[in-house]
Amino acid sequence: MRSYRIASMGGDGIGPEVISAGVEALKACAARDGGFTLNFTDFDWGSDYYRKHGVMMPADGADQLRGYDAILFGAVGAPDIPDHVTLWGLRLAICQPLDQYANVRPTRVLPGIVSPLRHVSGPELDWVIVRENSEGEYSGIGGRAHRGLPIEVAQDVSIMTRAGVQRIMRYAFRLAQSRPRKLLTVVTKSNAQRHAMVMWDEIAAEIAAEFPDVTWDKMLVDAMTMRMVIKPASIDTIVATNLHADILSDLAAALAGSLGIAPTANINPERDSPSMFEPIHGSAFDITGKGIANPIATFWTAVMMLDHLGEPAAAQRLMRAIEQVTANPALHTPDLGGPATTRQVTDAVCEALRKAN
Ligand code: ATP
Ligand code: MG
Repeated sequence: MRSYRIASMGGDGIGPEVISAGVEALKACAARDGGFTLNFTDFDWGSDYYRKHGVMMPADGADQLRGYDAILFGAVGAPDIPDHVTLWGLRLAICQPLDQYANVRPTRVLPGIVSPLRHVSGPELDWVIVRENSEGEYSGIGGRAHRGLPIEVAQDVSIMTRAGVQRIMRYAFRLAQSRPRKLLTVVTKSNAQRHAMVMWDEIAAEIAAEFPDVTWDKMLVDAMTMRMVIKPASIDTIVATNLHADILSDLAAALAGSLGIAPTANINPERDSPSMFEPIHGSAFDITGKGIANPIATFWTAVMMLDHLGEPAAAQRLMRAIEQVTANPALHTPDLGGPATTRQVTDAVCEALRKAN
């Protein structure tokens, strides 16, 4: 029997609620499959840990995670702790040392869910966004000088390396090649940013030559937002920098119906350390503890994790269970305009798994 060790980390806000729902669904999925087991180890890192210990996770936190096959992560962020402390102290402190440089975000309009784009139905919006996850605008490099004075200067430096751009381009072209349409859009802003983005474009063209069967085009990020709304069916796979993809993927999540259904994977494609799977949404303190967080984003995240572990049959079974549940508006949580609770949606997905063939 195949066996996988999973590090699960609820984190803050609704994180623990959706992660415990995700663990339940994954256990139901493994039980239904019968070919593998999942062994979860829970980590209590996050804002509560910070209040007790002054750090979001232990100094050797990333190293503690290295022995696992995957990490299932909830959310970080708390109203009383600055965002840069929580984000850099936990999420990025895991992603960077474990070299999870490809952030992958599928977007699709699931059955039963109404896109705010009224002209769009399922097959017309089926994208996957690849976000560069290790450098670029979020390098953390920069500083402030002359604080408070009229001459104050602040600077964030966007760093792009040839090796960093090559590896994300290669990942994106390979992913596009694996999808039926073999179509990739490289998002850029080389008209206004004259150094890093120009190199980004050059490397895209170089890597494209390795993938003659992939059709690709290049689009400025501002024009891309318009295209996503007006001509969604013209898009399949997207690759963009850390900042651009951050923004485009919130737009994509909204166009697919709700932030509460959007999944993401922080992938280490070389597989020399574990990848991390998380819903796109944050800690959502406005609904924490109310039992109404939508667990679908976490379930879809779990599908991505099963695929990455090499369990595609189980991944497909879980995705079908999710789609059966979203198809029923009575099982929509309030973010989708429905009456259902986290518990009801979780039970329905587990039940659909038990009945699945
Ligand atoms: P963070 O700073 O951690 O990103 P945030 O305050 O930006 O948190 P998000 O978690 O990103 O908030 O959520 C934005 C909005 O979407 C909130 O109103 C939240 O309630 C809603 N939301 C996010 N995730 C879910 C979910 N899983 N189910 C229902 N509503 C959600
Ligand atoms: Mg947010």
